Amino acid sequence: IELNNNLCLFISVTIQIVFIFWTAWAQRTLKNALTLQTLNTNIAKNLILFLGDGMGVPTVTAARILKGQLSGQSGEETLLEMDKFPFVSLAKTYNTNAQVPDSAGTATAYLCGVKANEGTVGVNAAAVRSQCNTTKGNEVTSILRWAKDAGKSVGIVTTTRVNHATPSAAYAHCVDRDWYSDNEMPADALETGCKDIARQLFENIPDINVIMGGGRRYMFPRNTPDAEYPDMAKHNGTRKDGRNLVKEWTDRMSNKKGHYVWNKQQLLSLNPSNVDYLLGLFEPMDLTYDLERNDETDPSLTEMVDVAIKILRKNPNGFYLLVEGGRIDHGHHEGKAKQALYEAVEMDRAIGRADLMTSIHDTLTIVTADHSHMFNFGGYTARGNTIFGLAPMLSDVDQKPYTSIIYGNGPGYKIVNGVRQNITVDNNYQAQAAVPLVSETHGGEDVAVFAKGPLAHLLHGVHEQNYIPHVMAYAACIGQNREHCTTNGGAAGLRPIVSSIAALLTVSRLLC
Ligand SMILES: [Zn+2]
Repeated sequence: IELNNNLCLFISVTIQIVFIFWTAWAQRTLKNALTLQTLNTNIAKNLILFLGDGMGVPTVTAARILKGQLSGQSGEETLLEMDKFPFVSLAKTYNTNAQVPDSAGTATAYLCGVKANEGTVGVNAAAVRSQCNTTKGNEVTSILRWAKDAGKSVGIVTTTRVNHATPSAAYAHCVDRDWYSDNEMPADALETGCKDIARQLFENIPDINVIMGGGRRYMFPRNTPDAEYPDMAKHNGTRKDGRNLVKEWTDRMSNKKGHYVWNKQQLLSLNPSNVDYLLGLFEPMDLTYDLERNDETDPSLTEMVDVAIKILRKNPNGFYLLVEGGRIDHGHHEGKAKQALYEAVEMDRAIGRADLMTSIHDTLTIVTADHSHMFNFGGYTARGNTIFGLAPMLSDVDQKPYTSIIYGNGPGYKIVNGVRQNITVDNNYQAQAAVPLVSETHGGEDVAVFAKGPLAHLLHGVHEQNYIPHVMAYAACIGQNREHCTTNGGAAGLRPIVSSIAALLTVSRLLC
């Protein structure tokens, strides 16, 4: 009887502790949420957009669990840096001509404020992919340009080529995202006067303060050996016009505190207070996956963001910074969930670094994705199950184990002699897929938009993706829509006056 009593007491205390734990946590969360009733209506001096390419909601959840498990937690309860943002909304990602979008049309949406056709950057939906003669007259400018025109410093940091789809919509107007240099362009497009994207990076907005990522080969004349891989012909320069865009840039910047770097040592040896312009090209094409990065020679995304903000924040007018975790998408296309999720965790680390270097009082930070992927995880796994692990039971159909992570389609389709292949797991393991494809596809569902800082609450509910730069520009008093900025009270200042006038008009209408 005494044993039973003790057991009952133990169970009841445990239940109470568990009850108190979750209740106390929820109450803390509620208390924090109540503070959000006082809105931050400051003017955003600085704007930062973190773009996880292909970082759909299942990727965010899985990256959260991975981050927690990497620090010895079970993972599900962990907070990503983006989880700490107070406002979250959903963005509809479709392109004007595609239900499931690509990175070019979506980049045009969240950078230029208009939806566009897939494969096109910095042009509106009247421009047709690969048809050079549909470019002229259909160019649209980006928030990076609006910020530059307003006297802010501007920067682009990416783990892909700096002339890849996402960054290119910030400065280029191109009907084909694949026109990296003139070498990739058809002769008739060159004859019609279309320019390759690498060239546009330096010619359209000539004074972008910070440019970091990969893509060296597109900047140098054809057959020029690469500085880092001089013996590997596949990394040679590609330009047919014979131009050396890096030399042209350094010449132009020679008396403007401009520096070109191509490895980590050069980058970290710079003193950001003596640098006003930085061009960092760390690989001939995309940067390596973070899991395979050479920490001696290549900077992490976090290190690049750190240097970028140190350079940009010197401008008293503030800055706009686009940061792309660009290879989450590539990991997924290859069916390599481990690569994709480590990329997402690294981008989250960069978000944390930016948080330490800025303030929510004057910096609007947004984290989102351009589109999702056919990636998911499930299978009734237990709490704390390794995110790359197996579901707890064998399939009750083919009696084989299966991983929690699964792709809807892609290269991980593994049917051998009519049966599903058994599981092996390493960094480059391709998770199983239902439909065989060389490259796994994007997903079509909405993506999350996390926001903090001035007017972050305008990102609420479900919106079209092209709404995002309109909010950012409004918050910073740049771009087309600045009527609310003319009083010293800034974004908030005019509101009481406007509402008083509206009330007066209503009263006078009732009376007269
Ligand atoms: Zn993609």
